[in-house]
Amino acid sequence: MIDWKELSNEMRQALPDLKILDEEPLARHTSFRIGGPAAIFAQPATVEALSEFLKFLAARGISPRILGAGTNVLAPDEGLREVVICTKDALTGLRDLGDGKIEAFAGETLSKTAVFARNLSLTGLEFAHGIPGTVGGGIYMNAGAYGGEMKQVAAQTTVLTMDGETRVFAGEAQGFAYRTSAFENLPVIIVKTVFQLAPGGKEEISARMQELMDKRRTSQPLELPSAGSTFKRPEGAYAGALIQGANLKGISVGGACVSEKHAGFIVNAGGATARDVKVLIELVQKRVFETSGYCLQPEVRIW
Ligand SMILES: Cc1cc2nc3c(=O)[nH]c(=O)nc-3n(C[C@H](O)[C@H](O)[C@H](O)COP(=O)(O)OP(=O)(O)OC[C@H]3O[C@@H](n4cnc5c(N)ncnc54)[C@H](O)[C@@H]3O)c2cc1C
Repeated sequence: MIDWKELSNEMRQALPDLKILDEEPLARHTSFRIGGPAAIFAQPATVEALSEFLKFLAARGISPRILGAGTNVLAPDEGLREVVICTKDALTGLRDLGDGKIEAFAGETLSKTAVFARNLSLTGLEFAHGIPGTVGGGIYMNAGAYGGEMKQVAAQTTVLTMDGETRVFAGEAQGFAYRTSAFENLPVIIVKTVFQLAPGGKEEISARMQELMDKRRTSQPLELPSAGSTFKRPEGAYAGALIQGANLKGISVGGACVSEKHAGFIVNAGGATARDVKVLIELVQKRVFETSGYCLQPEVRIW
């Protein structure tokens, strides 16, 4: 049994510059606004600090969980007796490398990264502007929208192993596929990615970003907490259309509700628990299977 208080004190002594929070509610760090406390919640500000921290944890046999902006995670109501490392607002930085390449650290938001590229008159990241996650989460998930995905623009990703060692994955070694990457099956933390973009016109890039943002605002329930599309797109169909076809728009369990605006989103309509969301996910899966024969798989990572 780990004595979390003692471990936290030991961490503060060994790593005085590391930002550590004890018993931090995960609801504060997830877009669903759901989740109990993480025993230890750490936000390393540099790759070096992260590496030191990982070595500290590895020496004690502790494997941390990684959180970006928490926009695709359902965290448990009872919280986690674990160490959660959060990159958002911590492991940040953007750099112009020339020749259409930019380097983005894992904790940068996709939105800020897309704007950085636009300001350099580089096209390719417009699709990512409205995705509310971080670069690290986007790479891990191979985030995509409106015909674009990380796979098209991510040239090289640097990770740290759980022993704090650096490894670099270039091109196809990043293993991108629909809403996943090689990093999902490896015990690593993404620390930065180099994007290869193309020269473009600032005005056109801005106009495309605006157009996609307007589409999102019209079609998605952005006014309520959610984790975006709850389910992956099944082969040959759309999850939202299948859910709507099963007459499930507006159906709720506790505070969790299938959005009236977009059936592909489960929203937290007020006071939803992780249990409510999980029960609703199962109910939707069952009804969609009964009405269409499709087995919907969650896109949301259930912790
Ligand atoms: C309103 C809304 C709209 C959305 N629209 C889209 C969309 O159009 N397209 C789309 O693809 N997604 C969409 N999403 C989902 C989500 O924003 C993306 O999946 C995003 O890429 C997740 O990034 P994140 O930083 O929030 O990751 P998190 O939710 O924090 O984490 C997701 C997974 O990635 C892992 N992870 C995160 N960072 C790292 C890291 N540095 N190293 C290793 N593993 C890591 C986590 O452990 C977790 O398993 C939407 C979500 C919302 C709320």
